[in-house]
Amino acid sequence: MGLAERLLFATLLSDTASGQTFLRSPAGLASPAVTAANVQAYALEGQQWLDDIGRMDKKTMPMDESEWRKRLSPEQYRVLREKGTEPPFTGEYLEVDSDGTFTCAACGNALFSSDAKFDSGTGWPSFDEALPGAVEYHTDTTHGMVRTEITCARCGSHLGHVFDDGPTESGKRYCINSVCLNLDETDAAGKK
Ligand SMILES: [Zn+2]
Repeated sequence: MGLAERLLFATLLSDTASGQTFLRSPAGLASPAVTAANVQAYALEGQQWLDDIGRMDKKTMPMDESEWRKRLSPEQYRVLREKGTEPPFTGEYLEVDSDGTFTCAACGNALFSSDAKFDSGTGWPSFDEALPGAVEYHTDTTHGMVRTEITCARCGSHLGHVFDDGPTESGKRYCINSVCLNLDETDAAGKK
């Protein structure tokens, strides 16, 4: 079971918890004819996976900034932990067109499917959507602008910003620092 699939089940679980139906759940995971019994089974399974993720976090997540500093390169630390920005047209993943799942370079959280990647011409890797629950959104008023900052939902590291001028149906342009990403080409679960 890949991490992206676990996250989908986590979304499923939170839908169950909020009393909503499975309408938002990924096709194939549940049908409209779902019964109370298998709703509970799905929820239990989802909880187990959440517990697994929790154990993983406790084992691998740095406890303070000095640990982050040891784990990350100076450029990664500057961008991820100090909300820096890499120079445009310099990132390793800007031109990459491979299939896979882009993960957080700090903690490994699955963030974006390669299917969501597009060439924005801005000089930073750009995506039209994030994986469900993968990122958090914050109002950023620095540098005389009002922007929406994106952080990793698991470790809180800075990733970039999202803008409402995307060229696809979502209308979103996630503008992400390449140095904040790794590409997992073995995990196809994040693919649409
Ligand atoms: Zn992270």
